[in-house]
Amino acid sequence: MSKEEKIIQVLKIIFLVLIIIFVSTFVFLIKYHWTAYLYLALFIIIMACYITIHILKSKIYIYTCPKCQHQFKISFFKDVTAYNAGNLSKILVCPHCGIKEVMKASVKKLKR
Ligand SMILES: [Zn+2]
Repeated sequence: MSKEEKIIQVLKIIFLVLIIIFVSTFVFLIKYHWTAYLYLALFIIIMACYITIHILKSKIYIYTCPKCQHQFKISFFKDVTAYNAGNLSKILVCPHCGIKEVMKASVKKLKR
């Protein structure tokens, strides 16, 4: 596992913990009005965490087309919007041959 992958794993755990805190303490928001700012801060941290995970993912993962074996990276926007097809797999359109397929992510250097 690469260093970036480990960072993603850690961020994913932090992300989940923050979501659990956010949801489980939501009752305080109704009870005490001052917590609104705390929730706003927590929400911003959650969003930052989410964006960082996807930026890292789009930077380190490459996808291989099952038809033409073309390897390509996807943008941050694609990473967020592309339909997930299981662990580290996404339904993507190959930029080389145009086929829409389930493509598995891997951490490899791009062939140049
Ligand atoms: Zn292709």
